[in-house]
Amino acid sequence: MDAEHMGADLERVLISEEEIQRRLGEIAQDIWDHYAGEEFLLVGVLKGAVLVMADLMRAFPGSAPMDWMAVSSYGSGTKSSGVVRILKDLDTDITDRHVVIVEDIIDSGLTLSWIRANLESRHPKSVEICTLLRKPDAAKVAIDCRWVGFDIPNDFVVGYGLDYDERYRNLRVIGTLAPHVYS
Ligand code: 5GP
Ligand code: MG
Ligand code: MG
Repeated sequence: MDAEHMGADLERVLISEEEIQRRLGEIAQDIWDHYAGEEFLLVGVLKGAVLVMADLMRAFPGSAPMDWMAVSSYGSGTKSSGVVRILKDLDTDITDRHVVIVEDIIDSGLTLSWIRANLESRHPKSVEICTLLRKPDAAKVAIDCRWVGFDIPNDFVVGYGLDYDERYRNLRVIGTLAPHVYS
């Protein structure tokens, strides 16, 4: 992390740019092999998953379609409300299609378990989850997540799509914020 990248606001870098790219490359190959030539639809969850989607899909050896959902579960603070609301629904009918949900982070798991149940009610062929980050110590509901980039400690992180009050999404690394940012 360097000074010109808001690095002064970070307390610690948890995951470097190189580590993120390397892991996404592995996962992309694994997803590709899993569907063995059958088409799958990537469903990103806005806005946090934007950068995961961009780098994951570019690491595929071939092409895969994508769609997006936006839900609200967090306000501008750092705690999950558990209340999920659809702000933007899919453009696509997922009936009888393989779906891969692409997420930035699973914290309590409340948001994703709601999204998964919602998508499953539309009769897709299958639904799997790919998340860059997961906080095992924060889980409030068990989630069957086939692809996980990194398990991280139960701290609030920013960067690589993850925001604090809409800031820091453009950091190339994942890190924790210094205390002075919150005050
Ligand atoms: P959950 O419902 O699993 O508790 O949280 C879902 C959403 O909350 C995530 O998709 C993400 O947008 C946000 N979130 C959870 N943990 C963090 C975190 O450590 N940092 C940031 N920036 N957002 C988080
Ligand atoms: Mg998210
Ligand atoms: Mg957020």
